[in-house]
Amino acid sequence: MAVEDYLRMEKLPHIWCPGCGHGIVMGAITRAIEKNGWDKNKVVVVSGIGCSSRAPGYMDFDTLHTLHGRAIPFAAGVKMANPELHVIVITGDGDGAAIGGNHLIHACRRNVGLNIVLLNNSIYGMTSGQYSPLTPEGALATTSPYGNIDPAFDLCNLAMGSGANFVARGTAYHIHKLIDYISQGFENPGFSFIEAISQCPTNFGRRNKQRTGLEMMKWQRDNSVDFKKAQTMSAEELKGKFITGIFCDREDKEYTEKYRQLVEQFQEGSN
Ligand code: SF4
Repeated sequence: MAVEDYLRMEKLPHIWCPGCGHGIVMGAITRAIEKNGWDKNKVVVVSGIGCSSRAPGYMDFDTLHTLHGRAIPFAAGVKMANPELHVIVITGDGDGAAIGGNHLIHACRRNVGLNIVLLNNSIYGMTSGQYSPLTPEGALATTSPYGNIDPAFDLCNLAMGSGANFVARGTAYHIHKLIDYISQGFENPGFSFIEAISQCPTNFGRRNKQRTGLEMMKWQRDNSVDFKKAQTMSAEELKGKFITGIFCDREDKEYTEKYRQLVEQFQEGSN
């Protein structure tokens, strides 16, 4: 199948701004599904609210556009009801790490077999540029006109520490690697978390001296460090950089499988 077969072509053109990275990441997710050879009738894509959460509207699967920050519990309900489905959540740094942050850590802890792609553009894009929990220190936003003083989460560390089976970070610039990370993460039966660094030229870039999508992608190229290389670098050398790669790929038992076994044991015991 071609990528177009996974898209609702009649919904185009999309609403994203020129230079936005979200279409690139949506393309990477679609290509990863194609690469994994998944039956499109077995794929469900769930989103919350925000620019990234518009993606499922363009994707030709069963899709759910839910409440702000609540995509993960909706998705967990879908997975619990039918564990055979491939359930993907597309979320953003505001939706997934602020209002939805608690859902994220508990889904990691339970290791529910969900596939999360969090598009990190460092800002609340849709609501015109408030800082998010992933906005870098010092960055300008409508709510931090003198520079953000909050340190940003390292969401990959958070997901790993909370129990996710698969954790990776890629960028819209390194598109082939990103497709690989998503594809590998989607194959892990447990909770997979992929942070995709995306660009918002409209509400982050233009306030932070990166006026175009191209400039922002060059920033991704120049400031990302591969996981293996990072291990040879000092904290000083890594200052201002972000690390990409696959951070863990574990085989801990998936939640709906554990639940199924528990029910079977109970039913055997009561017979
Ligand atoms: S506001 Fe930013 S994130 Fe939203 S569509 Fe425009 S460029 Fe993309």
